[in-house]
Amino acid sequence: MSWSSVCSLDEVLPDTGVCALLHGRQVAIFRSADSVYALDNCDPASDVNVLSRGIVGDVQGERVVASPLYKHHYSLTTGRCIEDSAKSVQVFPARVMDGRIWVNTEPQAARVRRRLVVIGNGMAGMRTVEELLRLAPDVYDISVFGAEPHVNYNRILLSPLLAGEKCVAEIILHPPEWYAEHGVTLHAGDPAVHIDRCRRIVRSRNGIELQYDRLVIATGSKPIILPVPGAQLHGVVTFRDLADVDAMLAAARRFSQAIVIGGGLLGLEAANALVRRGMQVTVVHLFGSLMERQLDESAATLLRASLEARGLKFRMPAKTSAILGEERVTGVRFDDGTQLDADLVVMAAGVRPNTELAVLAGLRCERGVLVDDTLQSFDPSIYAVGECVQHRNNTFGLVAPLWEQARVCAAHLAEVGVSRYRGSVTATQLKVTGIDLYSAGDFADADGSETLVMRDHRRGVYKRLVIRDNKLRGAVLYGDARDGAWYFDLMTAGRDITALRDHLLFGPAVAEEAAS
Ligand SMILES: Cc1cc2nc3c(=O)[nH]c(=O)nc-3n(C[C@H](O)[C@H](O)[C@H](O)COP(=O)(O)OP(=O)(O)OC[C@H]3O[C@@H](n4cnc5c(N)ncnc54)[C@H](O)[C@@H]3O)c2cc1C
Repeated sequence: MSWSSVCSLDEVLPDTGVCALLHGRQVAIFRSADSVYALDNCDPASDVNVLSRGIVGDVQGERVVASPLYKHHYSLTTGRCIEDSAKSVQVFPARVMDGRIWVNTEPQAARVRRRLVVIGNGMAGMRTVEELLRLAPDVYDISVFGAEPHVNYNRILLSPLLAGEKCVAEIILHPPEWYAEHGVTLHAGDPAVHIDRCRRIVRSRNGIELQYDRLVIATGSKPIILPVPGAQLHGVVTFRDLADVDAMLAAARRFSQAIVIGGGLLGLEAANALVRRGMQVTVVHLFGSLMERQLDESAATLLRASLEARGLKFRMPAKTSAILGEERVTGVRFDDGTQLDADLVVMAAGVRPNTELAVLAGLRCERGVLVDDTLQSFDPSIYAVGECVQHRNNTFGLVAPLWEQARVCAAHLAEVGVSRYRGSVTATQLKVTGIDLYSAGDFADADGSETLVMRDHRRGVYKRLVIRDNKLRGAVLYGDARDGAWYFDLMTAGRDITALRDHLLFGPAVAEEAAS
């Protein structure tokens, strides 16, 4: 480190700059309040030596100089450009000694920490932060807005929590200490309400305004509330977050009859959990077959039988036309005019990407926030991950694809990204203890596809594999799902299964040995 005396303090009037030569390089020297600053004199926007002639001022508490040419503001302390995170100027340590200004010839640490704001303290947003910290722990100051008043927890485990198989502490993914240790500022219970894309500012409901260089939108999904009369009554709940679980548990303590609308994964898990909490539960489903998007009819019939054996009742196909009650729900009416009594109605009829904020900010959205293969939105400084996005015309409802998105998005935020997100094959498992069920890929019969089926009535085992062009395209396993991961690998790797085909239904040990 070598210091050079560049001029006397008196030669620089307060809040103005002068140009000095530092080992042949032009440096802009500023005097403001009690401090002196030294910056590269060259304005990176115009490549002209003009910064010393800029006006010194204040932008949101930060001392800056405005370039006389393009009016960009550069921070006097860090050199970052307020308007464009891709631009910055070098800053040199400066001090006053014996009435003279001294500047160090070695620039201050080159890279300035940028600001990352994440909207959504859920699974995809925080996984992105985790991946980013692993790749580039020092690149960003990270702030997170979370609508829920909690740290990040594992949403998948809400079902075992409702069933009494786990407690809240067991489902926490990032405890408060994690945020503190990693320098991540969490604004919990304070949703972001506005994104100003011109000024790159996010404002929260409590009025906190944060500037960002990069923004990640990870607002997840919103449960669909059926547009029927009575949907707003007390006792009608959804199944998305900890508050919903609390509401269901409170109802289960006071009341005895529940109706769950929706015979998909979430509805069945909620219904099973409420039965375990002592309620009489009827599942109302629009279709004649449960989990129709993941299971074929045979597997769905087996599933229904085992859930009935656990005490669940079913009303299907049935269409809800109204929720009955004055203040609190008392029942449900169906479109054939019949009705069922209930003190609790759980709407588990699907989710919709939460794009509200993105739409208000003018980002391109269809069903979800549109993102490219780097998870970048229409605005290059805004990324989106998780269930709120729409990628290649797909939206998402399971975590596996979100993990892949988080990895790719983090790599691009860290600017080490060459990776692309190209979509995912997904697999579903029902989290009802004692029921072994697995579904992955495309199990529907289609032209040119062939199906391998195994049924073992006595053991209650059913397996169905769908093959097309000598590749495994889909698998439905009921009663014995141990080989699910192997089938999934075959599918995602796109492996030619010709040699395995004859023994494919018997799992990897038998099939691989027969093929070798
Ligand atoms: C009960 C249940 C069981 C599930 N089981 C499985 C399973 O077995 N397997 C599986 O793969 N997936 C399962 N899922 C789905 C999985 O949980 C989701 O795919 C995953 O949580 C989506 O992550 P996300 O970050 O996109 O959304 P979320 O995890 O929902 O996070 C979004 C967060 O953003 C917050 N937010 C929204 N708007 C704002 C705002 N304006 N400002 C600040 N914060 C905001 C929300 O409050 C939420 O906390 C289950 C989901 C539920 C509800």
